[in-house]
Amino acid sequence: MNTPADLIVEKEIKFDQKKNNLNSTSENNSYKQEILKEKGQREVFCGLTGIVWLHRKIQDAFFLVVGSRTCAHLIQSAAGVMIFAEPRFATAIIDEKDLAGLADANEELDRVVSQLLSRRPDIKLLFLVGSCPSEVIKLDLSNAAERLSKNYLPNVKVLNYSGSGIETTFTQGEDACLKSMVPEMQQSKGSKEKKLLIVGTLADIIEDQFSRLFKKIGIENFDFFPPRNSTDLPEVGKDSVFLLAQPFLAETATELEKSGAKHIPAMFPFGVQGSYEWFLSAAKEFGVSEEKVTTVLNPYISRAKHAVSKSLGLLEGKSVFFFPDSQLEVPLARFLHHELKMNLLEVGTPYLNKKLVAKELFKIPNETQISEGQDVERQLDRCINKNPDLIVCGLGLANPLEAQGFTTKWSIELVFSPIHGFDQAGDLAELFSRPMYRRKKIAALKPKKENFGVTQ
Ligand code: SF4
Repeated sequence: MNTPADLIVEKEIKFDQKKNNLNSTSENNSYKQEILKEKGQREVFCGLTGIVWLHRKIQDAFFLVVGSRTCAHLIQSAAGVMIFAEPRFATAIIDEKDLAGLADANEELDRVVSQLLSRRPDIKLLFLVGSCPSEVIKLDLSNAAERLSKNYLPNVKVLNYSGSGIETTFTQGEDACLKSMVPEMQQSKGSKEKKLLIVGTLADIIEDQFSRLFKKIGIENFDFFPPRNSTDLPEVGKDSVFLLAQPFLAETATELEKSGAKHIPAMFPFGVQGSYEWFLSAAKEFGVSEEKVTTVLNPYISRAKHAVSKSLGLLEGKSVFFFPDSQLEVPLARFLHHELKMNLLEVGTPYLNKKLVAKELFKIPNETQISEGQDVERQLDRCINKNPDLIVCGLGLANPLEAQGFTTKWSIELVFSPIHGFDQAGDLAELFSRPMYRRKKIAALKPKKENFGVTQ
């Protein structure tokens, strides 16, 4: 049973359409939504995981985790073994001696950094990434970053952020990393033409697609953040407007606003509807007509709709339950409901930034339970009672649930795969239909009497 002390239910959160600058694609101007807030045991990766995609994106950066052997194992197994290239992440191990306060961890850190930078002159930006152990021994990494930055100026910039499991979940590592870079962005002088910043790590191939589409729509003045090279950090200022490509960048958005940039409220570019609305929101900010956007995007929309429709056969009418993991859950649930006709039982998310996902929340049906935070045992009970056709969850929950006969999708794949935009909409749908297909095949192979518990 839930108790009032550890369970907060928000009722009737009303969104004001004008205040949130919603455009004509929204369905309601007042939305009744119940959000279940839970605090308890969580089954979510820590923010170190973001290094896996961040080190691929910023090609002259290096991520030095100041952590334990557990931290080293996590990023090594998540990122895979690199055989042909020198990796751009490592762990400075804090051992028992350091934990007991017997060694000067700062001296040790300086020694490791000196070794690293003399061996790797290609590094232009070094991130010191905090972890649970560095937090426990209260190692001040912001002081260390400042000290080291002075030592290695002007060749290397040293920044710091926390990926600790005490402070961050999975995708919050990227938010913390990007936030640490905002103060390094040059302030634009103003009086220039309006400039668009597209914020959030995207695969290069998607960036290239988006660049082509923005230009076709008539928006020429734009930059991506983070950039592919740390020396190409875009300027920011009062003439900047920014569009988030990921819903988990709340702190980065606040930091950009502090630097004078204005946030463009939008849906997120997942699926046909989200991608269209995302481009349209940017276009409106630049005075481009909806007619032009529709004309330019129509061929992409048709192709994407066709690609998505291939997964309808396996997903239409099926139910889905999301455990909290990446903060992508609300936009992905919206995609599954509107474009693949799935029933949303529960949409769990580690954090819900209502301002950033306002347009997405409007698209979630009233009867769907949205939950924020986690108490994993309770959530498992709710999930099993609802008997969903598909469960989207982290690796730790997927195997036990599969063993009970449920069909699962590893949410980590949704972060590691390129899923943004029109050209990826079909692949995104397939990421959900593939486990359903696999389960159907397995069910067909099993003799009937052993087939209990299989949901397909
Ligand atoms: Fe584990 Fe904390 Fe290291 Fe993450 S930062 S791997 S949660 S010890």
